Formats: sequence, structure tokens, C-alpha cells
Amino acid sequence: MGIEAALPVDGFMTTQLQRVINWARRSSLWPMPFATACCGIELMATASSRYDMARFGMERMSFTPRQADLLIVAGRVAIKAMPVLQRIYLQMSEPKWVISMGACASTGGVFDTYAVVQGCDQFIPVDVYVPGCPPRPEQLLEGIMAIQRHIDQEGMPPIGGKRVPLGLSVAPSLSPRPQPVPLTVGLN
Ligand code: SF4
Repeated sequence: MGIEAALPVDGFMTTQLQRVINWARRSSLWPMPFATACCGIELMATASSRYDMARFGMERMSFTPRQADLLIVAGRVAIKAMPVLQRIYLQMSEPKWVISMGACASTGGVFDTYAVVQGCDQFIPVDVYVPGCPPRPEQLLEGIMAIQRHIDQEGMPPIGGKRVPLGLSVAPSLSPRPQPVPLTVGLN
């Protein structure tokens, strides 16, 4: 892993158990994708080689709620689909986090109709809201890193494992770098 190379021979390292647990937890946030519409395509792009979610220990998309830590709601949620989403959320074990990705998941977006849920946070707790229609992968990564930063600073999980939702929002003014990034390979 590289750590042993940095340590002198017969050296040792001390740290706090809480830090190790938080480091392990934030480095292996397995996502549970609930992608129902176009935002799901951006979610897929985030997992692609250009954005590389594997950098965050998140390349293992979990399609079993019991082995997932981070529910990503990407796209509008129909009223009929909400019981399914709620069941998925309840089946995930604590500690768990939720990202509401895109205007539709957070507010219903342009679909102001009786058939579409006007914000999934009316039915499940949401930790991070990622604005946009659709949000770029960089914005989703920003939301993921916000959760990671929170886990880094978190104490030991409370007994019973329950916690309150964070209620964070990625700033709508976030301006990602233009893509594709100019190549400089072979110059100079
Ligand atoms: S927020 Fe925009 S891109 Fe995302 S699901 Fe709604 S309409 Fe599609």
C-alpha cells in the first residue's frame, strides 16, 4: 500500500481507533444508485474513466441495499416508485447517507404534476443536495467529498447507529473546469 515504504525498518505507527474507523468508512462508501431519468446518465459518467469514482473507493456500485452506504437518488421519482425507494433506504444498514442528485430528485424539477414526488426529502432523509439539470459529474463528486469530509470529522457512531441528516447543499455557482482539459503531453 506504500505505507510500509514510508516507515523505517521495524518502525510502528500510532493513531486513534476513531480515525482509522472514519478513514475506512469514508474510503469505501459503496453507492446504491437509484437512477430513474437523465441524471442517471451523469451518474454513470461519474463512474467512467474520465471522472473515476474508484479514486474514492466507490467503484463498487451496490445493487443490494444491505451492502450499500450511500443512496444516490438521480432523477425524478414517481409517486408509485416512492415505496420502493423507501424500502431500499430502510434496507440499508446504518450508518448510511443519501444524496439527492438534480433538480427533479430535490424538488420535482419541471415536473410539477401529481404523479411526481416534489422532493424526495419529503419521504427519506437527505444529506446532500446536488443542484443542476443535470448536475455535472464534478458537482456530484463535490457532494460525495462533502460527505467524506463529514465522516472524517465525525466521532464514533452513536449507539444504535442513528444520526440526523446533514442537509448540505453544493453551491449552484460551482463552476467546473471546461472539459476536455487541454492536453500538454509531448510539448516542451
Ligand atoms: S434534473 Fe434535469 S437532467 Fe435530472 S432527471 Fe430532472 S430533467 Fe433530467
